[in-house]
Parts: sequence; structure tokens; C-alpha cells
Amino acid sequence: MSRFGQFSHLWVNMAERLGLEVHCCEVEWGAGVPLEEYERAIEADKAHEIKAVFVTHNETATGVTSDAAGVRKLLDAHGHPALIFLDGVSSIASIDFRQDEWGIDLAVAGSQKGFMLPAGLSFLSVSTKALEIAKETNRSMEKCYFSFADMIATNDNGYFPYTPPTQFFYGLRAALDLLFEEGLDAVFARHHRLAEGVRRGVGGMGLKLQAVETKWESDTVSAIRVPDGVDGAAVCRIAFERYRTSFGAGLSKVAGKVFRIGHLGDLNEVMCLSALAAAEMSLADAGAKIDLGSGVAAAQAWYREQAAEAVAMKMAAE
Ligand SMILES: *Cc1c(COP(=O)(O)O)cnc(C)c1O
Repeated sequence: MSRFGQFSHLWVNMAERLGLEVHCCEVEWGAGVPLEEYERAIEADKAHEIKAVFVTHNETATGVTSDAAGVRKLLDAHGHPALIFLDGVSSIASIDFRQDEWGIDLAVAGSQKGFMLPAGLSFLSVSTKALEIAKETNRSMEKCYFSFADMIATNDNGYFPYTPPTQFFYGLRAALDLLFEEGLDAVFARHHRLAEGVRRGVGGMGLKLQAVETKWESDTVSAIRVPDGVDGAAVCRIAFERYRTSFGAGLSKVAGKVFRIGHLGDLNEVMCLSALAAAEMSLADAGAKIDLGSGVAAAQAWYREQAAEAVAMKMAAE
């Protein structure tokens, strides 16, 4: 496992509390899954004692996306049979994720992010290999409520082993219809376009992201470093109280140092611009030197350019 933000931390914490033996790579908050370090551990593990490798695909606390396919490549390169577990809560349905192609054995997602629903439903997608291994796993990890066998036996007839949250399924059907109507590729492209506008807006304000390199930048959430001497928590409080806008606060190690703009789900350019406008006002009110309009203008330029390009492409196609 690797820890580089509050969500990846919570997984490490959970695994340890479940009594699993965890090899945790500590990574700078702002970077992601350290492929080289994972590779060293995998290469050294000739006896195949490592049973699973964990990937927090999109670290929501720092706005960092990791290379999940890269983890598969390195396991394959060393012929290592470890399973890959992936937290896709803030990536699946918003940015590219290919469970079969990348050979991900367990992927978990939640209703409250890219699926655009209230919190309350989570999804676990399980490979055939993981299902087989679950059958033979030692009894100390036996589960009742989360037994795959119970779930599969009843699912086959359209039932669940427990009372299912039927109302959520209606919501999920509607959400999936929206996603498939737009088309997943278009959904991913939209998230990238909107996120890039937010990033340009952040740059326009003269601020920096918590993501330390471009390759880590997340298309679903941006964690923005506040200038020295400005309290990120105050920015969030001011945004909420004065401008009725909810930003994500900095969590744990980055508390007070960042605020976060979530840009996933049912979202468009104008909504991103309003978030940037609220950020500018809240930052200025919290004591930051911000030229009002500087972030919004940078994002507007990008969105206009992208819109013009889309129109030109459509005309060319016609
Ligand atoms: C939101 C989120 C979770 C889930 O949080 P819960 O509060 O447990 O629903 C887990 N991982 C990531 C990366 C998230 O963004």
C-alpha cells in the first residue's frame, strides 16, 4: 500500500486494524502510487508473500491520480500473482478506468461521487481470480455480510441476501442512463476539459496545486495551496458563510494549507467558473492578494477556446 493523503491513509489504517500485515510506502502528499518502490518490493518478494497490492486511484484529499495500469504492468513483468485492489471512489465514472484491461481484482466505488447520487450505496467489482481466492482464504478473514458467495447466490435470481436500498437503484439507473447517453469517452473528456479550466484558473490567480507534478493532476478534484499566511479553513468558512459555496477543506496533514474544488459529476463550464469566482472572493476576504477576475479570466479563455474547437470539429464532420 502507499499513503499520500487522507483517503489512502484510511485504507492503510483499515488494513492494519483488520490485522493484515501492511508494507506501506510513505509518499509525499501531492504525489501518488510510487511505481518504482512497488516494483522493488514485488521484485524482492520471490516467495510471493505479498497477497495484494493497493492503489488509491484518485486521492481526493490532494487531487492526485495514480497510474493503476502501471501497477498491473509491473506485476506482470515480474510474474507476481498478487491481486490488485483499487479505490475508485472518486475516479470511476468520471475518469478512465478499465478493470479488465488493467487486471484490477477488486474495485470499489461509491454512489456519492461520479455516480451523482446521495451517499449510501457502494459498489464492489470483483475479478474471477479474486472470487476464486476468496473461496479458499483462511477463515480469519471470513465475512458474513460481505460474503461474495451469498451475494452471488441470491443475485442470480434478482434478489439480495439482505433488504436492498431499492430507491437507490432507481437513482443509479437514472445516473447510468445519463452517463451512457453522453458516452463514457465524452464524460471523461468533459471532466478533463472542466478540470483543466479550474487548473488554469488556479494558475491565473497565482496559486499552485497540491499535486507536485502535472502527471499527478486529478480531473475530478483540485486541491489548491493557499498562500503563506492565509488559512485554508478560513477560505472554506468564508465561502460557505458569505457566498453559499462549499469547498472541500484540507484534511489531516494539509489542513489549513489547501482548499479543494470538486469538479466531477453533473457539472459544466459555468459551474466551474462560479466556483473560481467564489474562490477568488473568499481568498481575498481571507487576506490573500488576489486580483479579482484573474482566475475566472484564465478559465474563460480556456473554455472559449475549447468550445470554438468543438464547433469547428462539428462543422468539419458535417
Ligand atoms: C469519498 C472517498 C471515499 C469514501 O469515503 P466514505 O466517507 O467512506 O464514503 C474513499 N476513497 C476516496 C478516494 C474518496 O474520494
